[in-house]
Amino acid sequence: MAGFWPFSAWKAKRKEKKQRSEAKAKLKESALGPKSKESTTGAKNPDNLTNITGVAGASSKNDYSYQQQQQEDDATSNAHLEYSVPTTTMAAADKTVLDDLLTRNKEWAQRTAETNPALFPALAVGQSPKILWLGCSDSRVPETTILDLMPGEVFVHRNIANMLPATDLSSLSVLQYAVEVLQVQHIIVCGHYACGGVNAALGHKKLGLIDSWLRGIREVRAKYEKQLEGLSQKEQSDRLVEFNVIEQVRSVLKNANVQEAIEERGLEVHGWVYNVGSGECNVLECPESPDAHVFKIKNPRAELE
Ligand SMILES: [Zn+2]
Repeated sequence: MAGFWPFSAWKAKRKEKKQRSEAKAKLKESALGPKSKESTTGAKNPDNLTNITGVAGASSKNDYSYQQQQQEDDATSNAHLEYSVPTTTMAAADKTVLDDLLTRNKEWAQRTAETNPALFPALAVGQSPKILWLGCSDSRVPETTILDLMPGEVFVHRNIANMLPATDLSSLSVLQYAVEVLQVQHIIVCGHYACGGVNAALGHKKLGLIDSWLRGIREVRAKYEKQLEGLSQKEQSDRLVEFNVIEQVRSVLKNANVQEAIEERGLEVHGWVYNVGSGECNVLECPESPDAHVFKIKNPRAELE
């Protein structure tokens, strides 16, 4: 029978880990000097903070590994408890990064309010973006930045490889809200070259949960297999990025709310591709799917009017 670990074995293992931890602490202390009060309580002294967290300095890399190992040890020990309280607090290095982000945020808010005093009071009242952006989660494709827009100008949904699966509650909810409530005028599905999701779908490596998500891209790949045949790896990746945009535009067009908005108020759906190497977006030709008629959905109320 597998899985049961006797208490005595757990105790011995824990003792062994404790001894290892103490030995490491001694080693660390001899390298950094004796522990100061600050070093144990979260480092109020910036010099100690640097030494402990590895923000800078010659010993930073080793210190980080030490801290990481310590956390791993704690996690392993606690795995055998019925329940455990987290033994580590936020690492001081993370705190510094977050402090920096908050400082930058405050500076940005101040600068923006100075240049555009009406913006924040208007945004506090509500939003009326004209564009819905369906993009990739990739950090290199931040829609507001690359479109040079301000807060309030674009409603956004981003996921791995800018997909719109027919059963994804999150993206479908965004789509419905944007079309029916916000009444956006344009939907832009934007893919990007060098997309990690698309590249993963071109390979065969087991990645875990994400494999289920990538299946949607694999289906696009399967559909366009002939067009991808014989191309170099980079060409295959670029073309699959484009084919995927075309297919996701088609997926948007299969949505009943979208069809209705196109008919009633001229909503437009566009396919774009972004070049992470140049910062430019290009418009993709997205031909209508030959089976589009199958997905036509009419509102019965509209029929009666
Ligand atoms: Zn991507």
